[in-house]
Amino acid sequence: MKRLELRECKRIVVKVGTSSITYPTGKINLGKMEALARELSDLHNAGREIILTSSGAVGAGVGKLNVPPPSNLQEKQALAAIGQGLLMHMYEKFFSEYSKSVAQALLTRDCFSDPERHQNFRNTLFTLIKLGVITIINENDTVAVDELKFGDNDTLSAMVAAGAEADLLIILSDIDGLYDSDPRQNASARLIPEVSEITDTMMENAKAKGSALSSGGMYTKLTAARLVTQSCIPMVIASSAEPNVIRRVAEGESIGTLFLPVTK
Ligand code: GLU
Repeated sequence: MKRLELRECKRIVVKVGTSSITYPTGKINLGKMEALARELSDLHNAGREIILTSSGAVGAGVGKLNVPPPSNLQEKQALAAIGQGLLMHMYEKFFSEYSKSVAQALLTRDCFSDPERHQNFRNTLFTLIKLGVITIINENDTVAVDELKFGDNDTLSAMVAAGAEADLLIILSDIDGLYDSDPRQNASARLIPEVSEITDTMMENAKAKGSALSSGGMYTKLTAARLVTQSCIPMVIASSAEPNVIRRVAEGESIGTLFLPVTK
């Protein structure tokens, strides 16, 4: 697959992490969220089908109450219950500026492991797509307990992309792609523009934690990449700080890291 072929991808799942839409305090970064809504609305106008997987519920709860990051599961679940409503309120506001309708879907792991629930989820999602709605997905953090939990939205977005039969998954992050070594520790680390095989060594090297308010890191992104490319869907990791990054990826620009779909 060539980068330019990404232009043909119609159904796109975009995942944004907590740090892409909130400040480190958890307060919503209005500029970034507005830019995201504008860019996705414009792609939608151009004929693409958009599904957004958004983190930030716990972060937004922390920001709203001005409290420290949660130290246990109950606090995390309570903060997510506060923040999720706030997130959707802001998304609704920004997307409606561009005449877009949004829907919320909060999922748990059994939405993918239980065939009936999975089919229900797919039916609803396909109906929403047909209605021209942008569905915004997060984990249902408030009720998720260990057996029901994804824990990170990278894995969730990969399962959503597979379930939605998407043509492309774009994961936006505070890092601009996969490097050959940790760029925070090694100034000469180089970005890898394209990955055709995710090796165990890559996975091992990626085992560092993300930020205080999010659950993922490069390891969970590679896990997502493995999952999604095995479903024949390409995935791109790119930096949310790059201007117009989603459009640029969708137009086939060589930006971030492209994980090639596994051809069967
Ligand atoms: N679902 C969590 C939230 O919305 C985030 C999980 C993650 O950081 O991947 O806050």
